[in-house]
Amino acid sequence: MDLIISEADERFRAEARAYFRHEYPQAILAKPANGQVLTKADRVASEQALAAKGWLAPGWPQEYGGPGWSVTQRFIFDEELERAGAPSVSPMGLLYVAPVIYTFGTQAQKDRWLPDILNCRTLWAQGYSEPEAGSDLASLRMSAERDGDDYILNGEKIWTSDAHDADWIFCLVRTQTSPRKQDGITFICIDMRTPGVAVIPIITIDGGHHLNRVTFTGVRVPVENRIGEEGQGWAYARHLLNHERTSYAHVAAKQCQVAELKRLSTAAPWGDASADSRDGFRRRLAEVELRVEALEITVLRVLAPLASGAAPGNESSILKIMATETAQAITELNLELAGVYGAPYFEDRSGADWKTGFDAIPTFAPSAVAGYFLARAQTIYGGATEIQKNIIARQLGL
Ligand SMILES: Cc1cc2nc3c(=O)[nH]c(=O)nc-3n(C[C@H](O)[C@H](O)[C@H](O)COP(=O)(O)OP(=O)(O)OC[C@H]3O[C@@H](n4cnc5c(N)ncnc54)[C@H](O)[C@@H]3O)c2cc1C
Repeated sequence: MDLIISEADERFRAEARAYFRHEYPQAILAKPANGQVLTKADRVASEQALAAKGWLAPGWPQEYGGPGWSVTQRFIFDEELERAGAPSVSPMGLLYVAPVIYTFGTQAQKDRWLPDILNCRTLWAQGYSEPEAGSDLASLRMSAERDGDDYILNGEKIWTSDAHDADWIFCLVRTQTSPRKQDGITFICIDMRTPGVAVIPIITIDGGHHLNRVTFTGVRVPVENRIGEEGQGWAYARHLLNHERTSYAHVAAKQCQVAELKRLSTAAPWGDASADSRDGFRRRLAEVELRVEALEITVLRVLAPLASGAAPGNESSILKIMATETAQAITELNLELAGVYGAPYFEDRSGADWKTGFDAIPTFAPSAVAGYFLARAQTIYGGATEIQKNIIARQLGL
């Protein structure tokens, strides 16, 4: 591991911090602090502000519009973004499909899709999972049959995050039935406005609309939208998943959440609890703080090889387990603090006046409950924990 923070890095940190304090839209930072939920417009405004500065795609190679930062600078930038309380970028376009496009796409595909992603003019969704094809992703059945210069797509995707807001979706589809199910899978990009694409909302237990079922009925997609070779999509999909699993760490956000837990736990309603339960809470909070420290070291270990241009490898599975289990442990402490005050989590909290009628409710409490419910999904999406453990075991030759 060789990620040393130099004086130049510290100057970069000061520059990034000053940007979030003075240039970045402050109205977006104020909303979560007021217990509000960010809207799509807020997220787009945030990403367009970063794009205007040239800072939306820190991980992209410079030739495609990345800022040319070192791995250390990228780490510092993520820390400063999260410390400022700015929302993380929507990953589907910037972090997931873009590396596949610039690594395996044609020049025409790069010219067509990358500038819009880089400037947040288009939002993307990830169409991998299907009913009966989640952990066992290679069992996917959505078909793409060649018809001249087009493919005709039929089938469905499920648990598709933010498909209702997306302009494009990248999908794994079956172009051939092969004895080895990983063969015959193709990676293709579909304009969400194409006739035959339908988005059906799935409302999750936190009361939010994040997920969808997306159906494809006779959807005609030009062959030029296929990335790479027909039937080789599994290799591109795995490349993407390793990028995805490296993106879950959010160390600085977790450090801020731990600091906030410490602050909140000294105030009402927690102040009424018995000494025994207070001690138990403090012990669990200390344990979580140590887990966040261990996570930070693990992130640095996973990032270090990337400094020499390597792509993320299977070690991203370790990071995924640690990051998501720690995130859940934090939400459990938040839930405990919120107690009965968390009940209005299902209220519409998009407006600044959401607290009208809930004056006695601490601002953090409803978000704490919604956050707890939503975080249950972290150990499922991007490959469930059991699947990550299988990958690690295989790597160790077990
Ligand atoms: C909030 C959320 C957002 C999501 N967003 C997207 C998205 O944008 N795009 C997308 O394509 N998908 C998305 N998904 C789907 C996600 O990737 C799948 O839910 C996940 O891969 C698990 O698949 P499954 O739900 O079919 O569960 P299953 O595969 O049926 O697994 C059920 C249980 O069995 C265990 N299990 C399965 N196989 C094994 C095995 N071989 N060894 C040990 N244990 C095993 C699993 O770990 C799990 O605990 C999202 C899911 C959620 C919850």
